[in-house]
Amino acid sequence: MARPLSASKMVEILRAEGLTVHEVRSWRTHNRNSKGAWGPVNGVMIHHTVTKGTEASVSICYNGYSGLPGPLCHGVIDKKGHVHLVGNGRANHAGLGDSDVLRAVINESKLPHDNEADTDGNARFYGFECINLGDGKDPWPEAQKEAIEKVSAAICRHHGWSERSVIGHKEWQPGKTDPRGFTMDGMRKRIAQRLKGGGGGGEPAPDPKPVPKPKFVPFPGSGFFHIGQKSPIITAMGRRLVAEGCGRYEEGPGPEWTEADRRSYAAWQHKLHFKGKDADGIPGKVSWDKLKVPDVG
Ligand SMILES: [Zn+2]
Repeated sequence: MARPLSASKMVEILRAEGLTVHEVRSWRTHNRNSKGAWGPVNGVMIHHTVTKGTEASVSICYNGYSGLPGPLCHGVIDKKGHVHLVGNGRANHAGLGDSDVLRAVINESKLPHDNEADTDGNARFYGFECINLGDGKDPWPEAQKEAIEKVSAAICRHHGWSERSVIGHKEWQPGKTDPRGFTMDGMRKRIAQRLKGGGGGGEPAPDPKPVPKPKFVPFPGSGFFHIGQKSPIITAMGRRLVAEGCGRYEEGPGPEWTEADRRSYAAWQHKLHFKGKDADGIPGKVSWDKLKVPDVG
């Protein structure tokens, strides 16, 4: 649950993701807010337009048509991968969908099958229309798929969401078939990769801002360290103790907890100026966290 992005922030985060963004006419004040709620927002929804040609498609998504006034989404993603922003606020794109799906999106859990149309999606989802005929034949150029990945990742990163907050219209509203031509599971995988900082589609991420934090083994609890315990964590710990000049090993370190591990760890505790029982060689949380044992996977 989150407060919707402002127009300026939307432009900023999309450009920061390396996207080409076009601002269409008065998109910053173009919305359906007079007809219902906008926000709190919970996710991103991907559609295909069932239209052809960038200019015509953008125009329809901005204006809408008789019976369904625009904006019909927040942004249109063309075949070149450019994003055309057409709406800021409530937009007519999601319609009524399944409350169980919304709950799964909020919890970022596995999506249930959409079999109900009981919930207003236009209040809850950013919508992106991707130019494609949706006939299963019209191709999806890689540049366009990459833009879908980038738009989704930029918004998820901003709100602190995972890739599970991105769904297809067909996963929301019974009877819908969009998007057709790639799988949402595959797209979510790409988005997850990008969120991890790896970029997607096997290409390097152009924006190195989300530097992954080094991962360390969380403290497993003092009870973990006993004679007979065997774990790669103990080897990794031993290597760190050696690196800190605290190694008291005749051979190793190895995966099995031994007296040499205890004596090495006690040396580490002394180095941290712990005394008495606090330097008994059995790891405690404070000294463990300071040791920064790299995650061995
Ligand atoms: Zn749709």
